Amino acid sequence: MALLHVDELYAGESAEVIAINSDCSDTKRLKNMGLREGRIVDLLHVDPFGSRKIVVGMDGTRLAFPLLLAAHIVVRPIRSYFETLRDIANYDNLTGCLNRHAAHSIIKSEVSKYAGQELPLALLIADIDHFKQVNDMFGHNAGDQVLAKFAKVVGSALRRCDMLCRWGGEEFLILLRGTVKEEAVQIADRIRRRVESITFPPYQSCGLLTVSIGSAAFPPEKDMEQLISDADMALYRAKQEGRNRVATTC
Ligand code: GH3
Ligand code: MG
Ligand code: MG
Repeated sequence: MALLHVDELYAGESAEVIAINSDCSDTKRLKNMGLREGRIVDLLHVDPFGSRKIVVGMDGTRLAFPLLLAAHIVVRPIRSYFETLRDIANYDNLTGCLNRHAAHSIIKSEVSKYAGQELPLALLIADIDHFKQVNDMFGHNAGDQVLAKFAKVVGSALRRCDMLCRWGGEEFLILLRGTVKEEAVQIADRIRRRVESITFPPYQSCGLLTVSIGSAAFPPEKDMEQLISDADMALYRAKQEGRNRVATTC
């Protein structure tokens, strides 16, 4: 990819800083601000008409500097605007999991692939118990923190081949490739136990978070909608039977 000046990027693109022109009188100032060769920057904002500033992000920090200086910074683009848009479209911003829209098309294609080859496939739907109380007791921001940590904890109990998605609200869907019913239940219970064993941020002094999980496995005659609805019904049963448990389709 060709080298550019940082002001030739679009907001959303990322680039590696290749050089900062040493003739530029503000080179030292830019370097003091942390902008040096080898750093990866995300172009956050360019405002050519208002403040005439450019805003870049580096390792979670933001750096704003005059647009005029931008022409002295040579970068190699490493992440395109298109890739950023694709991530925004496919991933949930809060948890970093695939979103429902993206997961839906993956499940659809995996179901037809696995059915065609007569391989096992299972699906879990996990729903945090009494999550509304977290928001009610600790506020929505704390609820968000719990959701983000919950996704990490669930992810840590999965295998590399499994797919985790935020299905909606406090509900997560997990696709277990090449997995038979009994193994799916074991994985679901591993998730349940791991969630139960962890202290979530606002809960330091009052109780633990639990999850209920519905599990469904894929025999060849079923389709995707059936698989999802079976897992949903099993989840409903897990809730009815007292929560903090795994239920499966009969
Ligand atoms: P149950 O055990 O039956 O699942 O009870 P519950 O309280 O978890 O279920 P309910 O459906 O009554 O409430 C879900 C709550 O999840 C309500 C909603 O405000 C909250 N929620 C959904 N999405 C988000 C989110 O992105 N952030 C936060 N903080 N809360 C969310
Ligand atoms: Mg819930
Ligand atoms: Mg729910």
